[in-house]
Amino acid sequence: MKVTFLGTGTSQGIPVIGSDHPVCMSTNLKDKRLRVSVLIEWDDFTYIIDCGPDFRQQMLTANCSRIDGIVFTHEHADHTAGLDDIRPFYFRQGDIPFYAHKRVLGELAKRFDYIFTTKDKYPGVPSVIQHEIKNESFSLGNLQVMPINGYHYKLQVFGFRFGDFAYLTDMKTVADEEVEKLKGVKVLVVNALREKEHMSHFNLKEALDFIDKVKPETAYLTHISHYLGFHDVVQQTLPENVYLAYDNLKIEL
Ligand SMILES: [Zn+2]
Repeated sequence: MKVTFLGTGTSQGIPVIGSDHPVCMSTNLKDKRLRVSVLIEWDDFTYIIDCGPDFRQQMLTANCSRIDGIVFTHEHADHTAGLDDIRPFYFRQGDIPFYAHKRVLGELAKRFDYIFTTKDKYPGVPSVIQHEIKNESFSLGNLQVMPINGYHYKLQVFGFRFGDFAYLTDMKTVADEEVEKLKGVKVLVVNALREKEHMSHFNLKEALDFIDKVKPETAYLTHISHYLGFHDVVQQTLPENVYLAYDNLKIEL
């Protein structure tokens, strides 16, 4: 399995528009963060998790010309606002499979009604195949994927375990029985916003405590704010099996 981090930034991305914060001014490419998404490839299958406002740019950078579907964690705009740009995939492949909680599918149908409607479609508008995810395993390609239920403040969010790889973002609370589902995972990706506490995201300490509970071989932090600091500085403070993810990082399992 090959995983590409398409984006690793929090909702505004880094740099933040108009900001003169030193991290936003950094010339290190590891301090440039698009909105979070990952590309997961195994055998002949290619899926992405989330489809934020940087989706087009991310697909071009990753040289990705075909996807088998998009899996959504939740409906917030930094995870869904790029939806119109599935058009090139739709033109080549036909209807694009979406996998999401029923509530998320409903929200997307409100925001992108022209995509979800089945009558009087404007020519060139893409179409999707909706797959509802419940908190039970579902198949993607030849793999059974296990959702991990958590909360982003009060909003339900799904993380996902693809065999030895798990990806959780926008988590603030995860019940013990959900953490159990992550036991034995080799690579864990989890969100870490900044050092200071936040109402709806793990801060760095909460992310490290979470990693300590799951005990993966290796962990990567994502959904990072400029307030966390410079990549190269923060990386030196982390335990030896924990890494700050950065855009275009590729890992193989
Ligand atoms: Zn987010």
